[in-house]
Amino acid sequence: MESVGSAPLILFDTLSRTERPLVPSDGQRLRFYCCGPTVYGPAHIGNFRTFVLNDVLYRTAIAAGMNPFFVRNITDVDDKTIRDSQADGSSLEAFTTKWTQAFHEDCESLNMLPPDVEPRATAHIQEQMDIIQQLMDKGHAYQGGDGSIYYKVSTFEDYGKLSHFNPEELRTQDINSAGAANLADEYDREQVADFALWKAYKPEDGEVGWDSPWGKGRPGWHLECSAMSMKYLGETFDLHTGGEDLTFPHHENEIAQSEACTGHTFAHHWMHVVFLLVEGKKMSKSLGNFFTLRDLMAKGYDPMAVRYALISGHYRKQLNFTFHTLDAAQSALDKLGRVLDTTDPRPPFGPDKGRFEAAWKLLLADLNTPATLGSLFANLKAFDPDREADLNGLATVLFALGIKIQPESTDGVAIPEEIHSLAQARWEAKRNRDFQIADALRDEIQGKGWKVLDRKDGFDLEPL
Ligand SMILES: [Zn+2]
Repeated sequence: MESVGSAPLILFDTLSRTERPLVPSDGQRLRFYCCGPTVYGPAHIGNFRTFVLNDVLYRTAIAAGMNPFFVRNITDVDDKTIRDSQADGSSLEAFTTKWTQAFHEDCESLNMLPPDVEPRATAHIQEQMDIIQQLMDKGHAYQGGDGSIYYKVSTFEDYGKLSHFNPEELRTQDINSAGAANLADEYDREQVADFALWKAYKPEDGEVGWDSPWGKGRPGWHLECSAMSMKYLGETFDLHTGGEDLTFPHHENEIAQSEACTGHTFAHHWMHVVFLLVEGKKMSKSLGNFFTLRDLMAKGYDPMAVRYALISGHYRKQLNFTFHTLDAAQSALDKLGRVLDTTDPRPPFGPDKGRFEAAWKLLLADLNTPATLGSLFANLKAFDPDREADLNGLATVLFALGIKIQPESTDGVAIPEEIHSLAQARWEAKRNRDFQIADALRDEIQGKGWKVLDRKDGFDLEPL
């Protein structure tokens, strides 16, 4: 495998606001954590942009020989999962298990590798209570009038270091007003202040609650990620990732809890994936531009085209996801399918990337997926499948991007290699203005049960 030192993976770090080499601090494994889905319905394509880009990161680290160890959690208890499981008439466990399975199916459709560990919040209640106890002992937490346990933000000097705001404003806020707002753990919470570590049981929680030294209740949402990341990756690990909306307050709170508890740096490096727009607007159900992967598959789109579209923009820039983008993604995949046989490359990969060296280097430069794709296609014309380095380079880049090539097909019918060769020969003949040969080839193809449809830059094949 290629040594990391020869071509380090450079990644922008939200904490230091610089591009820095991503280094396994123990010299052996790159340990990283990504905030996973809240399982109360199908994940939408905005969520999947984050997860697919994390998959590209994971795959790139594998291909670069960094031996990554990747943990992504499942949030299976919060206000939304409790509310919707009750509306569904299911137990919290049955409800979240169903949506976890749906998430896994979507991940598989998108050719995402499963993480090394996928812990669930409800399976780590004790670990979360242990952190609360330590924070209580160290004076970083207190029990509020409602029985819930709150983290006292004013006790943590570095609060705000990730999201880069001035904590002074925050420290002067009225704790009582903040306490009321903190009963909610929705993503869109705006109140900046003390946050709940343990939420005292309320009748609305129904059957959901655990006994604790502070009374029956459940953990606050932020706590689970501190507990599960440190359990599987250690008190200090290499990288923490998530969607940009998690920077504040979620990740800021994770840092505060974890570092106040252990006294050490929590994560060395932070990566945040910027959300997408759909047809130029923020995705919303009322605008009719809210899509899950299943919605797009029901419209006939190949999930591989969805993956391609999601990585067609840089992860630090807003992506405008449109149906035009999806169509373009599908043609790009078709183009690859015409050059390559069915392929789903697997590591290990050799060090010599041939004419795909540039594409690979662009990926290592802050996961520049659009530039990588551009370079890949620019070099595809001169690609020589008999050159081992070219094959290795292309396999490396396709694996890292997670692009699986399937034989070109129409309506799910695979095109036989022989038909494709004949159509290719006819296309060449037509381009050379050998119309007699082209027509003869067309007849031959038709005789074998296929129809050629000409396009401006190529052809499609359809079974007769
Ligand atoms: Zn998290």
